[in-house]
Amino acid sequence: MEKIILYIDVDAFFASVEQATNPKLRGKPVMVGGYPHERGVVACPSYEARAEGVYTAMTLSEAYRLVPHGIFLKGDYDNYKNYSDRFCEILKRFSPLVEMISQDEAVVDLTGCAKDYIEAEKRVQKLKDQISGELSLSTSAGVAQNRFLAKTASEYEKPDGLTVVPAGKEWDFLEKLSISNVPGIGYKSRRILNDMGIKTIGELKQIPQSYLEKLFGQRGFKMAEFLLNRDPRLLEPVRPIKRISRETGFFGDETDMEFISATLYYLLERACIKLRAVGKKCNRVGIKLRYTGESPVVINRTIPFFHNTEENLLPYAQKLMKRIHTRRLAINLIGVTLSGLKNAATQEELFAEPLQKNDSLIKAIDKLRSSFGYHSLYFGKTLTLKDNYKKLRTGYELRTPSLSQ
Ligand SMILES: [Mg+2]
Repeated sequence: MEKIILYIDVDAFFASVEQATNPKLRGKPVMVGGYPHERGVVACPSYEARAEGVYTAMTLSEAYRLVPHGIFLKGDYDNYKNYSDRFCEILKRFSPLVEMISQDEAVVDLTGCAKDYIEAEKRVQKLKDQISGELSLSTSAGVAQNRFLAKTASEYEKPDGLTVVPAGKEWDFLEKLSISNVPGIGYKSRRILNDMGIKTIGELKQIPQSYLEKLFGQRGFKMAEFLLNRDPRLLEPVRPIKRISRETGFFGDETDMEFISATLYYLLERACIKLRAVGKKCNRVGIKLRYTGESPVVINRTIPFFHNTEENLLPYAQKLMKRIHTRRLAINLIGVTLSGLKNAATQEELFAEPLQKNDSLIKAIDKLRSSFGYHSLYFGKTLTLKDNYKKLRTGYELRTPSLSQ
């Protein structure tokens, strides 16, 4: 059966929440990010501000020059979080399979909730109506067989768009799109093609394959393959997850061992939550650490059994930490990597390794946190982080978070 995937995105989220909360702001150019005299940029302009030329990441002073009569706001992040939660709640009325991509974007699997694309379109219209009725927010939605196409479709018409690309009709939709949606076409290739008068995928298709290859070499071959096969799945690269890592820099040079170990535990916990979410276990643990002013040192070890809980992996991580954190110097970066991944539920391992204790408890914790936020639950080990980092729904706001997967 074909998949029916919805990608939905709230239009101009921060600014729209401000307008939803304070009706006096509706219909006016609102810019969230800061005040005109401040340094910094516009995080989110309302559509009225966009109409006057303001765009995301424009400096506040430039925006002020353009729209001196505009309303500049600092932003109320607790309120955005509250709206985001309510947005998520509405989505869950339509399918149990909701994946929040960010505060205002989500992928919803409607397969099984709608019998075909016609019904799906009606359901999504109803969903959009509920969001606009209950939250006064407009959304742009795309429905297609896979995430990439659904996201592309959601961007096709904004704001308040609904674009459905029924299975089998993908190519009709793609032909209308800009060539920048084709794999292998970067800025330079686009310039060359635009100079030739080619802007859409449909126009690109008119060019002989051999000419594309001559013009772009290996990349031309990839483009030609995509055009020839007309397989939109080629646009969605499937990259198996090889490792999961979490790392962060510190605000200053850190020497407080208690704080360092709490951060290590927190990063391990975050990596394990991801590990469990993708249904994997690992048998390799790595620690990265950087003494201030030096290059990072990394150590990786294979461990005897596959695990997916912070409880089981922590002793290994701590042992590695002891091995590389040997000098009495301040450190300014720490990271954890889990690799050697395999699927969590395989037959053979039921007998091969000791059962993880608390398996169902951990599942319950993950579930609780994914519904009510990371901070619905605290463990002693990370308590010291509370005073140092800002709390977000998904965890702590680290200084320079960087993650692979
Ligand atoms: Mg958005």
